[in-house]
Amino acid sequence: MPMGHHLIAGEAVSGGPSFASSPVEGPARDFPMGSPDLVDRACRAAEDAFETFGFTSRAERAALLDAIAGEIDAREPAITEIGTRETGLPAARLEGERGRTTGQLRLFAAHILKGEYLDRRHDAALPDRQPAPRPDLRLIQRPIGPVAVFGASNFPLAFSTAGGDTASALAAGCPVVVKGHEAHPGTGEIVAEAIAAAIARCGMPAGVFSFIHGGAREVGEALVRHPLIRAVGFTGSLRGGRALFDLCAARPEPIPFFGELGSVNPMFVLPAALGARGAGIAGGWAGSLTMGVGQFCTNPGIAVAIDGPGLDAFVEAARGALASVAAQTMLTNGIAAAYREGAGRVGSAPGVEPVLSTACEGRNAAPCLYATTGRAWLADEGLAAEVFGPLGLVVRVADADEMLAVARHLHGQLTCTLHLDDGDTGLARRLMPVLERKAGRVLANGFPTGVEVGDAMVHGGPYPASTNFGATSVGTLAIRRFLRPVCFQNMPAALLPADLQ
Ligand code: NAP
Repeated sequence: MPMGHHLIAGEAVSGGPSFASSPVEGPARDFPMGSPDLVDRACRAAEDAFETFGFTSRAERAALLDAIAGEIDAREPAITEIGTRETGLPAARLEGERGRTTGQLRLFAAHILKGEYLDRRHDAALPDRQPAPRPDLRLIQRPIGPVAVFGASNFPLAFSTAGGDTASALAAGCPVVVKGHEAHPGTGEIVAEAIAAAIARCGMPAGVFSFIHGGAREVGEALVRHPLIRAVGFTGSLRGGRALFDLCAARPEPIPFFGELGSVNPMFVLPAALGARGAGIAGGWAGSLTMGVGQFCTNPGIAVAIDGPGLDAFVEAARGALASVAAQTMLTNGIAAAYREGAGRVGSAPGVEPVLSTACEGRNAAPCLYATTGRAWLADEGLAAEVFGPLGLVVRVADADEMLAVARHLHGQLTCTLHLDDGDTGLARRLMPVLERKAGRVLANGFPTGVEVGDAMVHGGPYPASTNFGATSVGTLAIRRFLRPVCFQNMPAALLPADLQ
């Protein structure tokens, strides 16, 4: 069970001011607050470790990733027990998320062993080329150095201490300093112990990984400002992410901030599909909206369709499906309060009518459904903002042109979805070039929650979906965030990185 400590380069550190956890059941526990001094200690240890870890073989790092997965699996009962209490998530969800987390670690192990991610390129020397000879040029991707990772509130395992950011950074050869999330400090601590145990077992330098509890804003600020940190991985709110992104940009030496922020993940329900199977799509939408109490970054918060009887039936089917979902516990009191505030903001906006209004208290949330016109939506920027939770907004557009106008008006998204049948191909062809520019992932006839972890996944998108549209935080391409291309010119073979020899 967690002891209430940070883990700095393998050493348990406690003492000083503390903060209390907020479990949904059972007693609160005290955890030590992080501090800029601890951040400095962890970053220095990470930089020292990089001198070794950054030059380990891919096989050694793959063995470490597999060992971390094994150590996490070995702690399954403790992780599930404390995780369910801290987050209110059901045991089955946490067990599934643990499987996803260890699966990601093992996927990155297999990925680096293949070596394709190194993108090795070679322009052979042309000594006789006229008018000037060409030198021998060899390019390879190299790790960037220590990486900061912020644990996310909504994925205590898969986007936190040993989540995708940490797995991809370690796979690349970058030491990691994690700032835990206050919503699940005990869960974070057990996973941190698993990582430290694997590092010790594999004979890696202890500074490869540190875990620091939060509890004070200055911890995250000190971490992204630390001169030895080379990049940041983050999942969370637009406001928090933007603040940290700005700190990264304002550093004397700016660094990339890979933030995955807000998204409303719009669905476009095209006329033929709406007429043929609108009720079925509405039922699927309700399921996707309420999965995990709507606390997914890919939650499809907006449905856009052309007004008419088909849309009336769709709205009624969605209302019925959502009304049957009981209130559920959210991850934190703050997230539940933000959901209620967001629902109030949407519900009181001009031109918005309530379809299903629910009341709930404390940490609970029940689904809400609203409807508005394309015209009202286009006139109100606030309606394009994410409400984190099980809230749906139907946008009744007048015609295909207004649907196009809504698509063009969207901010950057993690996902956009088309529901379409054969008769919808013409309209879909008009929407596709717009949606491709808006989202990291464009779906047909599906729902965006339940993100696959694989080689072809993109979990990112134009701002504010992410702060770096060239990257993904899910899937094997995520490793590219923590690599840098280096070209070696006319370098003797003995001096080249091992992966180029
Ligand atoms: P958050 O408030 O953005 O916090 C995430 C992390 O960033 C925490 O470690 C937090 O530290 C830190 N942080 C935030 N603002 C900071 C600042 N100005 N300076 C330094 N550090 C800062 O997100 P959250 O706590 O996970 O949830 C709050 C809201 O975020 C939700 O209601 C939801 O709207 C949104 N959210 C969105 C997604 C998504 O995927 N789109 C996921 C999760 C949450 P402290 O704990 O010390 O504040």
